Amino acid sequence: MGSASVSEAKPGLLDGLDPEQRAAAGAPRGPVCVLAGAGTGKTRTITHRIAHLVRSGHVAAGQVLAVTFTNRAAGELRARLRGLGVEGAQARTFHAAALRQLRYFWPRVVGGPQWDLIENNKLRLIGQAANRAGLGTEVEVLRDLASEIEWAKASLVIADDYPAVVARLRRDTPEPAERIAQVYRGYEELKNNARLLDFDDLLLHTVAALEEHSAVSEEFRDRYRCFVVDEYQDVTPLQQRLLDAWLGGRDDLTVVGDANQTIYSFGGASPRPLLEFTRRFPDATVVRLERDYRSTPQVVALANKVIGAARNRPAGSRLRLIGQRPDGPEPRFAEYEDETTEAASVAARIHDLLELGVPASEIAILYRVNAQSEAYEQALSELDIPYLVRGGERFFQRQEIRQAVIALRSAAAAGQRGEFVDAVRAVLAPIGLTEQPPAGGGAAKERWDALLALVELAEELAATVEDADLARFVAELEQRAAAQHPPTVEGVTLASLHAAKGLEWDAVFLVGLAEGTLPIQHADGDENAIEEERRLFYVGVTRAREHLSLTWSLYRSGGGRRTRRRSRFLYGLLPENHPAARVARGAQVRSNGQRQACRVCEGPLTGTMAIKLGRCDRCPSTVDEQVLERLKYWRGNRSRELKVPAFVVFTDATLIAIAEQCPVDESSLVSISGIGQTKLERFGAEILAVVREAVGS
Ligand code: ATP
Ligand code: MG
Repeated sequence: MGSASVSEAKPGLLDGLDPEQRAAAGAPRGPVCVLAGAGTGKTRTITHRIAHLVRSGHVAAGQVLAVTFTNRAAGELRARLRGLGVEGAQARTFHAAALRQLRYFWPRVVGGPQWDLIENNKLRLIGQAANRAGLGTEVEVLRDLASEIEWAKASLVIADDYPAVVARLRRDTPEPAERIAQVYRGYEELKNNARLLDFDDLLLHTVAALEEHSAVSEEFRDRYRCFVVDEYQDVTPLQQRLLDAWLGGRDDLTVVGDANQTIYSFGGASPRPLLEFTRRFPDATVVRLERDYRSTPQVVALANKVIGAARNRPAGSRLRLIGQRPDGPEPRFAEYEDETTEAASVAARIHDLLELGVPASEIAILYRVNAQSEAYEQALSELDIPYLVRGGERFFQRQEIRQAVIALRSAAAAGQRGEFVDAVRAVLAPIGLTEQPPAGGGAAKERWDALLALVELAEELAATVEDADLARFVAELEQRAAAQHPPTVEGVTLASLHAAKGLEWDAVFLVGLAEGTLPIQHADGDENAIEEERRLFYVGVTRAREHLSLTWSLYRSGGGRRTRRRSRFLYGLLPENHPAARVARGAQVRSNGQRQACRVCEGPLTGTMAIKLGRCDRCPSTVDEQVLERLKYWRGNRSRELKVPAFVVFTDATLIAIAEQCPVDESSLVSISGIGQTKLERFGAEILAVVREAVGS
């Protein structure tokens, strides 16, 4: 049957797929399930399936609704669909889809003014409810209560049932269950009185509209006929209920997922609907994929080991990946004394990769919690390496981007002259898109990069849509802004492991692989939680196409020197005699291969500060206070002028190093770590003048 429908499609569409992928993509309308590991082409298969169904006339593009779990992943789906020439298929997160439907059906099912989204008021309302229930209102307590209420709503558990359900599940609750139920009830009441909706309400109300209003469900059924879910292993009971309401008894559903990548079960998600799909749809076409097209055999071998060590894997999730790409470098493991040194070393390694020609946008640093980004932001800034932090995803909130969208909109309204991409460049020029990037890093460069990202987006549109014009481009930007899917800015990605799901990069740095961070502290002692952490690690490993680096450090930076151990997930991965088991205590190696010793005591150097100063923290300083003071004054002026934080101009460590070594010419200045070519060109002459003047006075 599959081959019959394949032949109806335009030739070539399914040629880029292997036989199993083609069987899923080319299957006739009806239930399809792809169960497969990371990098095997699941997302590729569903985009091709949609394109195939549309091109062969089985369904109109506008009748397709594809859902996934993050805005970024939804943006990725839309971009891939556009690349296949599919226009008008919806690809959204569950929440974005529900919001749109609820807004549309609101007048019929509720009437009156639409309720607003709760946004930042959530903790405040939970605080009021907690107060009434006699609980503490510290932020951490409120966050725990909020997550618990979110879990309950995602699991379709109402406040009255909450205590009995958590007792049955033997669920650890942050406060006594009766109290939480009280807060939950109070929060719902306050929220309803304020006419506000939280994220889960979007789904709950949409479900109610579809289940309880036949006119609504009939209209909906007429409008959407084909449903596709990516990352189905992370579906919650609430999302499943919405999906069922969408289907309304129909079976035109394609799901793809990997039970080994379930990373939201703390939020109520479960891989069971994926693993039990054929029980519900006995006629489903089921496909398993094993070939890993993303990663080198070296990365794949490591991934297989990581997940092979998992405990209690459900039946049906034991797949072994087979790498399809040519060989690449072995994954690198390294242990560091502290986080600052780890970050400095990762930044140095990224610097080397950039020199080798790996584009910055093809490199990612992934960590367990967002707070870890700071050390890496600093280390990258010191080497003038551009980066962007995912998670915030505030691209469209940036001032220059808002300005640009307004300017593009009015240019589109005025009618465009000349070639489309040139027109975009012309509109962006007065906002700051100069021919050449501004010298140095800092805010000016960031602004320029952001504007350039818009041009690249325009080029992408021009390449994929035949009659692209300004109006079309503005519509695309508005759509992305609504979904907060920023175009890729040319910079290294910093992201949490959760946010990295479904994405891929040439080079991936998994950092902070120490007990207490991965697995995270609060997972300790809870086997299910530990297994979820392991899957998170697996997600991280499988993001890498070619270069994979795994690092950890033994001390947290600054303050209490608490010894830490490397992550338990690394056992069995690095050979017992791997140098990482012994190295790095002190013997730091710079990216140019030089070992560094203290210039006072000749002992090994540890920490960025020590490496930069060329002496141990405890060895006597030879800093010239007068020079240091003048340098700081100069830096203050410069950072105000450039509107960047002071450390972006020079870090304290670099200034102290300058004041200790009082360089007299350019060559002695560049020998100080932290002063690269860019900084030399930009500030070299000024620094030398400040030093000369201070020493002379
Ligand atoms: P994840 O579980 O991480 O979401 P996935 O199974 O969705 O992974 P994709 O992102 O679809 O995998 O594919 C991984 C990479 O392999 C992509 O770069 C994709 O273009 C490529 N790829 C997939 N299938 C093929 C194929 N048949 N031929 C060539 N490249 C392929
Ligand atoms: Mg995918």
